[in-house]
Amino acid sequence: MSEMPEKPINTKVIRELLDSNNGARIRSWLSICAHCGLCAESCFFYLAKNKDPKLSPAYKVKATLGELYRRKGNVDRAFLEKCYNIIWGECTTCKRCSLYCPFGIDIATMIATVRGICHSQGIVPEGLARTSENYKNTGNQMGMSVEDFIDTCSWMAEETAEEIAGLDIPVDKPGARIMYTVNAREPMYYPQDMAMAAKIFTVAEESWTIPSTGWDCTNLAMFAGNRALAGQIVKNMYEKALELGVQYIAITECGHAYRSALFEGPYLAGYRDGKPPVPVIHSVRLFYEYLRDGRIKIDPEKMITEPVTYQDPCNVSRNGGLWAEGREIVKYLAKDFRDMTPKSVYNHCCGGGGGFIPMGAEFKKRRMESGKIKAEQIRATGAKIVIAPCHNCFDQIRDLGKEYDLGIKVVSFKELITEMMIIPEKFQPVEAKDEDDE
Ligand code: SF4
Ligand code: SF4
Repeated sequence: MSEMPEKPINTKVIRELLDSNNGARIRSWLSICAHCGLCAESCFFYLAKNKDPKLSPAYKVKATLGELYRRKGNVDRAFLEKCYNIIWGECTTCKRCSLYCPFGIDIATMIATVRGICHSQGIVPEGLARTSENYKNTGNQMGMSVEDFIDTCSWMAEETAEEIAGLDIPVDKPGARIMYTVNAREPMYYPQDMAMAAKIFTVAEESWTIPSTGWDCTNLAMFAGNRALAGQIVKNMYEKALELGVQYIAITECGHAYRSALFEGPYLAGYRDGKPPVPVIHSVRLFYEYLRDGRIKIDPEKMITEPVTYQDPCNVSRNGGLWAEGREIVKYLAKDFRDMTPKSVYNHCCGGGGGFIPMGAEFKKRRMESGKIKAEQIRATGAKIVIAPCHNCFDQIRDLGKEYDLGIKVVSFKELITEMMIIPEKFQPVEAKDEDDE
């Protein structure tokens, strides 16, 4: 839990939060819940812990938000600390349960409301609080300076141009078709991810740019319950896209970034029609279009022959609608594809979403325990390679691979596409061409 100094609980603020946002809608959800229990089996937390009734979605809401309404916001710190464990430790806001509720009750939105209330009282996981400070100070979750970010772009462009002739990472290019935004972990720890994207865009002859500000498409403030900061983060991105006059904001292989930019962000940033001011496209859709349109061609000799499965990131497949595109890409890359059961919109959360991974060591044990369902799904496919087009899914499944001894390798689409794509002659570096001619 955050080390913020303990202040007395401000019940007036809690009451205001209960009445604002989705107050009327939430009260109606709470009143129509029939406690039928149909949502219980949809939740991987419930399934992973021997169907503990306290882990059913309806119970988690009743014990937190239901109580907050019943007590009209008059709660103490001990109550909010109990909520803390439920809303951050027992729900990733994956929205799977809503598919199984006959009334379509949105449990995730209600859990997010309690996160907002806990946040208002300084009760937030330490890992998320830390990233919020970084966003405030630098606009990105890693606290990277603009200079360091631009240096990383130049460095990656320089190195990668040795492999692909004419490759560049254009920063702040006005009028580009797409403004490519990344997860701050990429420039910080995995700059090769940005180099891979640059290779794909170069070969696809895309008109693209990376913005010098608003480049971090992640939004962990959204999961910390800090709506004001979450709105500012997404506004930074929208405003930069408007300034550059791009046609699309493209999102790297990250699930929650898509959720933030496409459908939660507009409301957080104050767009009452719920639409982003610039259309948003996820890498999964972009890569699918490149392959479909022949802008990227895969060398059939390099297709994977080992069994492969696909992790549907909740915010790309179920909540983002791109489950079919993900599988279409896989057809170009793998000969032996084995879907998980259940799959697509019904696939389970990896167990690392909703901010669980950046919440760090405090939650790791629970993250591994609840990930049991995903580990079992993967093991049942017999796959040796798991494609995960989301940083959180990637890290969680890699951790689950070790924890449950799954013998798997986790990869992104970028990694596979850059390994397998045919580099047209005009993009081959001079040295490589000379070798071919000899
Ligand atoms: S949103 Fe996901 S994690 Fe949360 S209760 Fe529903 S199914 Fe479980
Ligand atoms: S399925 Fe819907 S109505 Fe039934 S207990 Fe769950 S949230 Fe309530």
